[in-house]
Amino acid sequence: MKTKIAVAKGDGIGPEIMQAVLKIFEANNVPLDYEYVEMGKSYFDAGHSTGMTATAKATIEELGTLFKGPMETPKGKGVKSINVTARKVWNTYANQRDFRTLNGVETVFSKAGIPINLTIIRENIEDTYGGIEHLLTYDVAVGRRIITRPGSAQVIRYAFEMARRKGYTKLACGHKANIMKLTDGLFLETFQEIAKEYPDIQSSDIIVDDLCMKLVTQPQNFQAIVLTNLQGDIVSDLCAGLVGGLGFAPSANIGDNISIFEAVHGTAPDIMGKGIANPTALLLSGILMLRYMGLTENAATIENALLYTLERGIHTGDFGNKSTPAATTMGFADAIIANLGQVPADGGVVSKGNLELKATHEHLLKNKLTVTRGIKEEMVGVDVFVEANDLQPAELAELAKKRLTDNFDLVMISNRGTQVWPTGSIYTELVNEYRVRFEKKAGKTVTQKELLHIAADFSEDAKVCSVEFLMKFGDKIGYTLAQGQ
Ligand code: NAD
Repeated sequence: MKTKIAVAKGDGIGPEIMQAVLKIFEANNVPLDYEYVEMGKSYFDAGHSTGMTATAKATIEELGTLFKGPMETPKGKGVKSINVTARKVWNTYANQRDFRTLNGVETVFSKAGIPINLTIIRENIEDTYGGIEHLLTYDVAVGRRIITRPGSAQVIRYAFEMARRKGYTKLACGHKANIMKLTDGLFLETFQEIAKEYPDIQSSDIIVDDLCMKLVTQPQNFQAIVLTNLQGDIVSDLCAGLVGGLGFAPSANIGDNISIFEAVHGTAPDIMGKGIANPTALLLSGILMLRYMGLTENAATIENALLYTLERGIHTGDFGNKSTPAATTMGFADAIIANLGQVPADGGVVSKGNLELKATHEHLLKNKLTVTRGIKEEMVGVDVFVEANDLQPAELAELAKKRLTDNFDLVMISNRGTQVWPTGSIYTELVNEYRVRFEKKAGKTVTQKELLHIAADFSEDAKVCSVEFLMKFGDKIGYTLAQGQ
């Protein structure tokens, strides 16, 4: 029985490489049916603000699997990337990218005989990709970095499950919790909690800058790494570079109900319509999709044919031995088709049907909401962010003190995260946005209304740009100290 999936051909080289990949699927009798959906640049141009028609959205939500070519986001029209929107709207929380040495694709590591076979799992929804940014003053922009416990748990659990399925023995968590103690700290804490459920997988954590250095010096030591969104974005492109570039890096965006499989390269407008684009990355993403749908036999046969074809030196113009003629997109696909049934010299990949995770798809009637309940919380103060154009820290402190009631102390003032009052250095350069911290006195109880009043009263002396409450959750302090506090 055939399963139906949604296919969006994409823009630029998208239709060419999609046609090549689907031709290979057809030649291997992959039991899939395709419903083509309307997504991409022309739909932005036609006035669909999300870059897709309502029918496309309904079809993808109905079928649960989207195989897509690269898409162009119109520049300067204030619209958000359709690729990022699709991942976020449908909660494809885990971005999986597999990187391995491919014979026929020469890299510094292949030349040195160092084999690479690693997987990056990147959180795909949260972090700075919420795109929640504000100009607080003309000179100062801030962005919100959102890291949540349920979001981190989803992707980390997926990473452990994936590691198990692939037969990996270890999983590392990349992070920067030494600096971003609450955001990356929450991600790391969640990783350490979930790791206890997987004693068969050796878990470790590594600071992301050290990780980058070790990936380029000893990539063979890594099997799987899970990271937050932005760090994962950067590290996964670094890994693509290790195995020959974005043209060889598949990408799967996995959610509980909807999953998206796509190549990570763009629409390559410079070679569009010439029939010379390399379909390998889209094919590798398609192979990930076949595995995810339980079609592991087809996945193994096609992957082995691809590896065998690369091993024989057949290549498109963007890689490989320049002294042998380059195949066209379709020529490359036909070579793979001719090699279906062949296995590369190293024995290739084997179908591990029973170990693969099968896609699930549930028709939801309302949005899923996850909350950790039963935690005692206490409000202990407020950070008021104000614009002060001509005031020195001590002058601002005098204005702030006017707003104190018996319940509060003025604790500190910082500028760009560095404390400038009550102590600081005259060499700390200032911008026109300060954080002024009010904390409740010991033994007092304060309400949110009182804290908002402080900010409201303060606005009579200085422009209030934003307000953040200081919270305690159980014995955990929910805010950071300023540098130098
Ligand atoms: P790009 O990846 O399209 O191109 C960069 C270079 O790589 C170009 O020289 C191109 O010819 C080459 N290249 C890319 N894919 C290739 C392939 N399969 N075979 C051979 N050569 C290939 O990056 P860009 O130029 O920065 O972006 C072009 C457009 O793609 C932009 O509109 C961007 O928004 C979009 N984009 C989409 C996605 C996506 O859909 N997931 C990802 C990245 C960029």
